[in-house]
Amino acid sequence: MGRLDGKTVLITAAAQGIGRRSAQLCASEGAVVIATDVNAAALAKLATESPSVTVRRLDVLRRDEIETLAAELADSVDVLFNCAGCVPDGDAADTTDDVWQQTFDLNVRSMFWLCRAFLPAFRRRRTGSIINMASVAGLKGVPRRLAYGASKAAVVGLTKCLAADTVADGIRCNCICPGTVDTPSWRGRVAASHDPERARAQFEARQPMGRVGTADEIAWMVVYLASDESSFTTGASMVVDGGWSM
Ligand code: NAD
Repeated sequence: MGRLDGKTVLITAAAQGIGRRSAQLCASEGAVVIATDVNAAALAKLATESPSVTVRRLDVLRRDEIETLAAELADSVDVLFNCAGCVPDGDAADTTDDVWQQTFDLNVRSMFWLCRAFLPAFRRRRTGSIINMASVAGLKGVPRRLAYGASKAAVVGLTKCLAADTVADGIRCNCICPGTVDTPSWRGRVAASHDPERARAQFEARQPMGRVGTADEIAWMVVYLASDESSFTTGASMVVDGGWSM
């Protein structure tokens, strides 16, 4: 028996990294999984490697695409995992207005649009677990993560407000705050630094466990929040960070 038998899970940004592993682990626990992403080629690769996962192209910056998808699927979805997000580098001196806006559009507005589109069906059915991807950078100050940290703090706030507004409707809403996690985009950040070896060591050292996390270690938290094992948990920020924020 799987931990997610009978549940349908929709995931954004599921073609790589944490979203991808979450799609695979949710499917391995018995869920029907709809993995969405803007990158159609990477989705096709996922579909080939994990035939039990259904893939759909979705650009979370497009409200029309979100509303079309929700009109089609909201009545059958039990779990919405808003994973999409970007990690811009910058402080107050060099973060441009464009970067600030793009970060909030992808990291926060997309979640607002998805939740707004799926909530009416969740309310009608008096069920639903919403999982939003935040970050430890939304809880503590991290150097050169100005727009990122502000956007992830907004995700924490969005999650708590949504939870307060929906708790009487049988809906749960939680967010996950990972520390540094080994994913394709993190490897890209390491490679793009002027001294990749030093950058990698610094990324590892900021977790007291002395390493970065794996996508699996975050995806198991997604499975927990998606499952009925977490039925008494709402409005929570689940920290999975190797002790970075302790
Ligand atoms: P990633 O950055 O490696 O991959 C991101 C995925 O998002 C890609 O598949 C990309 O195609 C997709 N994407 C980008 N724009 C999109 C759009 N407009 N619509 C739909 N999909 C889009 O993945 P990751 O590192 O696992 O990060 C996933 C989430 O986890 C992000 O919200 C990130 O902020 C958060 N997070 C990551 C870390 C980390 O260290 N990797 C730590 C804390 C939080």
